[in-house]
Amino acid sequence: MTKLPEIFGNLVFNEEAMRERLPEESYLALKRTIDQGEALNPALADVVARAMKEWALEKGVTHYTHWFHPLSGVTAEKHESFIAPDGKGGVKMELSGKALIKGEADASSFPSGGLRATFEARGYTAWDPTSFAFIKDGVLCIPTAYCSYGGEALDLKTPLLRSMDALSAQALRVLALFGTSARRVTATVGAEQEYFLVDRDRYYQRKDLIYTGRTLFGAKPPKGQELDDHYYGMIKLRVSAFMKELNEELWKLGILAKTEHNEAAPAQHELAPIFASCNVACDHNQVTMEIMRRVAKRHNLTCLLHEKPFEGVSGSGKHDNWSLSTNTGVNLLEPGDTPAENAQFLLFLLAVVKAVDDYQDLLRISVAGAGNDHRLGGSEAPPAILSVSLGEDLEKLLDAIEKGEHAEQTEHRTIRVGSDVLPPIPQDTTDRNRTAPFAFTGNKFEFRMPGSQQSLAWPNTVLNSIVAASLGEFADVLEQAEDFNASLNALLRETITKHKRILFSGDGYDESWRIAAEKCGLTNYSTSDVAIPHLLDEKNVRMFEKLGVLSETELRARCEIMLENYCKQINIEAMTMIEMARRDILPAVIGYSGRMANAMNAKKAACPGLACAAETALLEKVGALTDEMHERCLALEEAVSGVQTLPQSYALRATYYRETVLEAMAALRKAADELETVTDKGAWPYPSYGRLLYRV
Ligand code: ADP
Ligand code: MG
Repeated sequence: MTKLPEIFGNLVFNEEAMRERLPEESYLALKRTIDQGEALNPALADVVARAMKEWALEKGVTHYTHWFHPLSGVTAEKHESFIAPDGKGGVKMELSGKALIKGEADASSFPSGGLRATFEARGYTAWDPTSFAFIKDGVLCIPTAYCSYGGEALDLKTPLLRSMDALSAQALRVLALFGTSARRVTATVGAEQEYFLVDRDRYYQRKDLIYTGRTLFGAKPPKGQELDDHYYGMIKLRVSAFMKELNEELWKLGILAKTEHNEAAPAQHELAPIFASCNVACDHNQVTMEIMRRVAKRHNLTCLLHEKPFEGVSGSGKHDNWSLSTNTGVNLLEPGDTPAENAQFLLFLLAVVKAVDDYQDLLRISVAGAGNDHRLGGSEAPPAILSVSLGEDLEKLLDAIEKGEHAEQTEHRTIRVGSDVLPPIPQDTTDRNRTAPFAFTGNKFEFRMPGSQQSLAWPNTVLNSIVAASLGEFADVLEQAEDFNASLNALLRETITKHKRILFSGDGYDESWRIAAEKCGLTNYSTSDVAIPHLLDEKNVRMFEKLGVLSETELRARCEIMLENYCKQINIEAMTMIEMARRDILPAVIGYSGRMANAMNAKKAACPGLACAAETALLEKVGALTDEMHERCLALEEAVSGVQTLPQSYALRATYYRETVLEAMAALRKAADELETVTDKGAWPYPSYGRLLYRV
C-alpha cells in the first residue's frame, strides 16, 4: 500500500484541492459559505464548477451526478457525462455553475408521501457545499439536497441541514449569555457501524437473505454467542483482508475509518470512523455502507447490514455518538475547568436530558422500521423505552444540585452554580451499560437505538431539533433574567426536578424497569406501527414548525412513507416465506420422507424381523411437522390476502401486518425450524445457521 497520508482524501474535492485550484478570493468566499452558511452567488458557482471539473477530468472521470438521499433511505444518482458538442463535430468537457448548483430529476418513482403528484413529477436537487464532492466508481458525486417543485423536502438531507441551522441558532443564544464569541455551533457525529459478513455463495443459496436481508428460517446452531468469544476476538484472515481493503477505499474518500473489531455475534463486526460534522458524518456513513457491500463482493463475501439477520444472536445497530462543537473548537459537552464553564456544561447537558424526556416519542420514531423492531429490546440492543444514562457520579451531582446541597469544596475543578459550590465533575463517566438507549460517555452522548441499515440523517434531524427546542426554552428564560446566576441556578434545579424521571443507569432489559418506567409516565412504543403515527402529535408538529425544520405537510408525507415502508417490507418477507416453504422446503422434506419410507420398506423386506423403530419415529415426526408447516403456510397466505379487505390506510395496515402477518410468519417459522433439526442436512434446501455464521 502507498503511504496512507498520500492516498487519504485523494478522491475528494476537499479544502486542499479547493485551495490549490481556486483563485484565493473564490476560495475564501466558498469557505464562508461552507463554514458560516453564507449564500452562494452564481458567479462563484461557475468558478468552482470549472475547477471541480478540471480536477475530476485529471482523475479520468467522465461523468458527474447529483448525489442525494431520497426518502427510500438509499442514496440515488443519475449520471450525466461532461460532454457537450464543440460545434466542430467533436466534444468538449463541460460543467457549468448552473449544473453544479441545481439539477432536475424526473423523480416520480421516489417516495413522496403524496407531496408530489405524478403530473408534476419534477424534483430538484440543490448543491450542498458543506459536504465535499467525491469520486466514486469513476463518477464525480456532488452531494445535494432534493426538493419538490414547491420547495418541500423530498429527502433526508434537507431537514438535516435545517435542523443544524436551528440548533446553531438556539445554542448561540445560550452561549451569548455566557459571553462567548462563537459564531456557529455544529452537531458532531461519530457513527459506529455494525455489520455481518457471510460467504457469498451461501448467501446466494438463501432467498430470504437475497430478498429481505435477513433469514426468515433457520434453526439455532448448537453454539451461539454464549461464550462471548467473538467480541474483540482474533479477526479471521479473510475478514481482515476485507477490512484492509475497505479502509483503503474509505481513506481515499476522506472518510476517517479508525476502529475495527469483531462484534458480539459470530460473523459480526464493527467499523467506527473519527467523528465529523453531522451532515458530513451522515453522508460518509451512506458511502461507507455502499463501499462495504462492494468490497465484500470482491472477497466473495456478502455484507449484511440488516438489523437482525439472524435469530438468537445479537442484531446490528449504528451507535450515533453526538456532541456539540463551536467554530472556536470547544466541545460544549466537555466538562470544563472553571466554575463558569461547568455551569455552561451542565446547562447543555440538561438541555439534552430535557429534550430526550420531552420528545421520547420522536426519538423512538426516528429509529422506527420493520427491521429495527426485531432488534430493539433484544440481545445487546437497547429497549424501546427511552432513558438517559449519565453514570452514577453525574447523577449524584445532579441530585446534589437539585437539593441545593453545598457539597464539600475541593481545591480544584469545583463547579459553582450560582451560589452553590459543588463537587468536581468526574472526568471519566464512560458508560459501559449497553442497555442504555441514550448514554453520556464523558464528552458526548451515544444514541444507541438507530438500526444498522438506516440513514443517520433522520435520527440526527430529530436529535438536533429537540435539543434546539430545549435550548430555545432555556434562552427564553435566561434572556429575561435580572440576576443571571440566580436564574441559571433555578433553571438547572427545575430542569432536574422535572426531567429526572428519564435518568436511569440500571439494567434496561429488566422487566422491573419497564414497569417502573411506565409508572413514571415514560412512553413505551414497542413497535413501529404504534410509534410512527405519533410523529403528527400536536406538540411534535409545533416544535418542528417553530424551528423551521419540517412543515406539517412534510411531516405528514414522512409519516405516510414510513408506514408504507413498514407494510411493504413485511409483505415482501411474508411472500418470501411462502415461496421458500412451498417451493423449496415442503418439496424437500416430502422427498426426504419418501426416500426414508422406501428405505424402511426395503429394509423390512430384507430383514422382516427388524423393528425399524428409528425410521418409524422419524417418519412420524417429519410427517407431523410437514403437515403443520403446510397448515401454517395456508394461514400465512390467508393473513397476507386479508390485507386487501382493509381500508386504504397505511396506519391500519401497518398494525394488521404486525398483529396478524408477523404472527403467522413466526408460527410458520417455528414449524419449519423444528423440521430442519430432524431433516437430513443434505436434503435441507438451505445452508444452515452454522454454515452461514461459522464458515467465513
Ligand atoms: P466507545 O468507547 O463507545 O467505543 P470511542 O470513544 O472510541 O467510543 O468513540 C466512538 C465514536 O465516538 C467514534 O466514532 C468517535 O469519533 C466518536 N466521538 C468521539 N468524540 C466525539 C464528539 N465530540 N462528537 C461526536 N462523536 C465523537
Ligand atoms: Mg461506543
